[in-house]
Amino acid sequence: MLRVAVIGSGPSGVYTAQALVQQSAVPDVRVHVLDRLPCPYGLVRYGVAPDHEKIKSLQNSLRTVLEDERITFVGHAEVGTAGLSCARLLDLYHAVVYCVGAATDRRLGIPGEDLPGSWSATDFVSWYSAHPDASGRGFMLGARSAVVIGVGNVAVDVARILARGAHELRATDVPQPALDMLAGSRVREVHMVGRRGPSQAKFTTKELRELGTLPDAAVVVRPEELALDPAYADPGSAVASALPAVNRRNVEVLRAWAAAGGSGGRARRIHVRFFLRPVEVLEEGGRAAGVRFERTVPDGSGGIRGTGTYEDVEAQLVLRSVGYRGAPLAGLPFDPGSGTVPHAGGRVLREGVPSPGEYVAGWIKRGPTGVIGTNRPCAKETVASLLADAPALALRPLVDDPLDALRESGIRPVVWSGWRAIEAAEAALGVSLGRRSVKLHDWAGLLAAAHGGA
Ligand code: NAP
Repeated sequence: MLRVAVIGSGPSGVYTAQALVQQSAVPDVRVHVLDRLPCPYGLVRYGVAPDHEKIKSLQNSLRTVLEDERITFVGHAEVGTAGLSCARLLDLYHAVVYCVGAATDRRLGIPGEDLPGSWSATDFVSWYSAHPDASGRGFMLGARSAVVIGVGNVAVDVARILARGAHELRATDVPQPALDMLAGSRVREVHMVGRRGPSQAKFTTKELRELGTLPDAAVVVRPEELALDPAYADPGSAVASALPAVNRRNVEVLRAWAAAGGSGGRARRIHVRFFLRPVEVLEEGGRAAGVRFERTVPDGSGGIRGTGTYEDVEAQLVLRSVGYRGAPLAGLPFDPGSGTVPHAGGRVLREGVPSPGEYVAGWIKRGPTGVIGTNRPCAKETVASLLADAPALALRPLVDDPLDALRESGIRPVVWSGWRAIEAAEAALGVSLGRRSVKLHDWAGLLAAAHGGA
């Protein structure tokens, strides 16, 4: 029997577990999927926006995989701690696949970034997604205007949640404290700001277009700002025709909004801005009060250069949305430049040499890019490497029953029945609030539900 631990139960971890059991080269495989949290599904539960129900429903197919009899979910088991080191895992399993994602965010490195009121967008996402580490944060706190720095899909998500009325989110599983704070929000202006041009924005067209469908928000773009982009100014140009289809479609959506001139009479406005590079988060009374941007222009080779002219945008809430970043895991090699674990075909490299039995998949392998489905081929590549190594790996005798060993080292794992108990508690909470299932948002509540209130 080949015993494998997959660390992380997000899409990359679940697709890895699935690829391990859906193959015939090594028939007798048992997989334990470990997660730091008592709940499975990683960013599908704690990253996909609550109003994106179709993507969220992917949880149903991830659930089917985790309910396979050859797979065991082991929640609330944090790897990299004294009781559960990477070295210890190799005593318990023939192979370990790290699918730990990109646990932190990139920083801007500008003055004022750490002022109260200035956050990473991933903090905000975690909060409205009920991540227990983000419980109790006070994001809005009287803010009237918000700046979102970056023009990727996360920026679009947070801009949209800020611009939606709380009544639009009531039918989702958004945790009650977040819903209450959103209901009391006074944010009326949301500025989503790119340092380059519209043809270089990272968002996808479906997500961009959705901003124009919000019932209480108008989208405002500035034609003169868009026109700085050669691909916008002349759609027939060589530059424009060389663009990938998604960027061309983004430009068309923005062109249509510019032509419409913004629809009036809405409670909130989303300003989509370009060619503004953040240089400082401005302070007033010890809190963020706005962002100073330098105007930029295209440099002719896909980048930008500063113009030495500046614009201040008022904001009591500043969210930097400039990408996720992998974090080092104690005991595992890490390349700080790329924020990933060095690997060859998914095999972890220690000082350039494959480390027997250690693998990576997902964002910690290839960096934080791509959609959820990108994790499937990524996981398959890693599993192919693991299966090729399996004859040698399976020779190693294993000492302990892994779950007993975890319990002996003081870990109290949440297994599948515990997760089902959390789901039942969330359904009951929803009923008591007159809503659909509502997520539990703090450690105490999650663990009490998982362990039956004990
Ligand atoms: P992203 O797509 O990499 O976008 C990052 C944005 O930050 C870019 O606009 C980038 O501009 C900007 N940026 C980076 N450094 C900056 C700086 N120092 N100053 C100003 N701007 C800066 O990252 P993301 O939005 O976090 O998304 C991560 C991944 O998750 C993506 O693959 C995304 O598609 C995916 N995702 C998908 C969905 C969905 O499908 N609905 C939802 C959320 C996330 P430059 O281009 O100029 O560097």
